[in-house]
Amino acid sequence: MKNIKRLLLYALYYISTMQTQEKKPIATTARLRSIIDYGISLGAKAIHLEPRKGSMAIRYRVSGSLKEERHLSLSEYNALIAQIKMKSNLKITEHSSAQQGFFHHSFKKNAYKIMSAVLPVLDGEKVVLHIQHTNPKPPSLQSLGFWGNSLKNIQQALALHQGLIIVSGKKNTGKSATLFSMLSTLASSGLSVATIEDPVRHIIKGAHQTQVNHKNGLSTEIGLRNILLQDADAILIQPLHLKNISELIESAIQKGHLVFGSLHASDSAEAIHHLINSGLDRYSAAKHIQLAITHEQVRALCNNCKQAYSPTEEEVKALLREFSNKEKQAIEQLHILEMAAKESGLAAERKLSTSYETIHQLWKARPSGCQNCNYKGYKGSIGIFEIVRSSTELQKILLANLGRQSLRNEIKRSSTLSLKQDAIIKMLRGLTSMNEITGIQTFQEQD
Ligand SMILES: [Zn+2]
Repeated sequence: MKNIKRLLLYALYYISTMQTQEKKPIATTARLRSIIDYGISLGAKAIHLEPRKGSMAIRYRVSGSLKEERHLSLSEYNALIAQIKMKSNLKITEHSSAQQGFFHHSFKKNAYKIMSAVLPVLDGEKVVLHIQHTNPKPPSLQSLGFWGNSLKNIQQALALHQGLIIVSGKKNTGKSATLFSMLSTLASSGLSVATIEDPVRHIIKGAHQTQVNHKNGLSTEIGLRNILLQDADAILIQPLHLKNISELIESAIQKGHLVFGSLHASDSAEAIHHLINSGLDRYSAAKHIQLAITHEQVRALCNNCKQAYSPTEEEVKALLREFSNKEKQAIEQLHILEMAAKESGLAAERKLSTSYETIHQLWKARPSGCQNCNYKGYKGSIGIFEIVRSSTELQKILLANLGRQSLRNEIKRSSTLSLKQDAIIKMLRGLTSMNEITGIQTFQEQD
């Protein structure tokens, strides 16, 4: 009797473990899929899976900032990490060293490459999943938020086919999307485009892209030397660190190449100064820099649920001060700029928020959002830009070594919009809110 009981218990245990073993991978596979699908639907660039004491937090990188969304128990976390390692072809039982891999994912008929990076930390292992759309259409410059003179300046610089175009901004401000758009335009117009990147962020149709690989001795310098032997018309160096390559870049431009470099800087003056301080000859900088584009990025208001409101007198005054101390001139300038933005296609279907007399409406997020924006009030992001074109005055300042502040003053004096001014125009067109643009720097803050 005892033996029969024991046999029955074992049979029950066996069946239950069979069920667990069968159910667990399926449940974990579905969980991983739903975590990634949700990230893609949010427009996230990366998903962070972070161990906390006794649990795991999932955070999504959307429009530059990390948003905490979900928590999992420790057992779910361990199963999930094992699943990611298995899919990424990593060692599942290895918990004390960093590992990197990738796997493929599909969502709504689109294909994605998920780059996984596992790092041991104090409470366990942290995993970051970078989401790469494997065959996305390059965005148009207009869809990224370029308009009016900024768009014209870029198109003119691209048509030159020679010189240096600097793309700068803080981390996660959309630099690579701008480069993707510009270089795709050149590649599709029949020019030969080559890149040396670390890492390759977008696949540019028709371009020859090289990934830096230090383990195999393929540095930016060696990559660039070889690209120069390959007769490329346009060359992207991402990120642009001038160590050992400043002379190569100078000779590339002199021979008739259009060189693109992306770097971390908070404005165009800082970017240009950084290049000169890191070895780019002052004369070359003055002669060859055609364009500097500085990036910021803000969350875009959900088109479906955003709300219009009448600004207070103080709010109107504060916005006008960004344009001129003389109110009458400021509102006229603002209104003309808003009209130009609308004409350029920035929310072309929407009425103007300004007149020659005042700002009559602003926009804000609906606190509870709607289904379209996952109840956030915001959906996607929009770029904010400062565009600096080469000019005789700018060249004089660079040649005379007058310093960053003089450069900044010249940029302010020229007709270029500051990041804050561009942000205000986009807010007036209903693309973003006052809350989102508060942190963006003004010309005044640096004076
Ligand atoms: Zn909404």
